[in-house]
Amino acid sequence: MRARGRLTKRRDEEKEIPKAFYKRCAAAGILAAACGDWPTKFAGAAPVENWDAFHVAITIDEICRCASGGLVWGIVGGLGIGLPPVLHFGSPALQERVAPGCLAGEKFICLAITEPYAGSDVANIRTTAKKDPSGKFYIVNGEKKWFAFIYA
Ligand SMILES: Cc1cc2nc3c(=O)[nH]c(=O)nc-3n(C[C@H](O)[C@H](O)[C@H](O)COP(=O)(O)OP(=O)(O)OC[C@H]3O[C@@H](n4cnc5c(N)ncnc54)[C@H](O)[C@@H]3O)c2cc1C
Repeated sequence: MRARGRLTKRRDEEKEIPKAFYKRCAAAGILAAACGDWPTKFAGAAPVENWDAFHVAITIDEICRCASGGLVWGIVGGLGIGLPPVLHFGSPALQERVAPGCLAGEKFICLAITEPYAGSDVANIRTTAKKDPSGKFYIVNGEKKWFAFIYA
């Protein structure tokens, strides 16, 4: 494994990745690469023909050379598990609202599955999201933990 660079050390010590860094990752195609299937509709053409899981693995393997699991997960972990459900199952309107910003490194997304009483056992999550009487808002009730990529 390569020695940890100065940039990695600084990120680890500051316990924060600057927002500008995500934009650089977006410009390099790293955020789109983290989605698995290259999101052509929102990120333009893939950098190589026939983009597949091996290209994703190579991209992640290369950024792992920074030798910081925290930095790698902070860049692509939450996005890589959070955005694909939107791209695969979200309505076109939701995709348009969420995907371009996330892939540009301007918005942040996470997968909010795990609860104190449901980790692997995803079918038994207890949190509910019910529309309020106005139909405009959701009332969310429950407990969640361990979300990667929350950026306040
Ligand atoms: C760094 C980190 C980041 C995370 N980020 C996110 C995130 O962004 N979003 C999110 O929703 N969650 C996130 N998680 C939570 C993660 O997905 C859960 O930890 C995972 O689902 C396991 O749940 P658990 O820890 O409750 O363990 P449990 O589900 O309680 O499992 C405990 C042990 O039992 C084993 N086990 C469980 N069920 C079975 C079974 N049926 N048969 C055999 N063995 C079984 C497991 O393999 C494990 O060894 C994160 C966790 C970590 C550590």
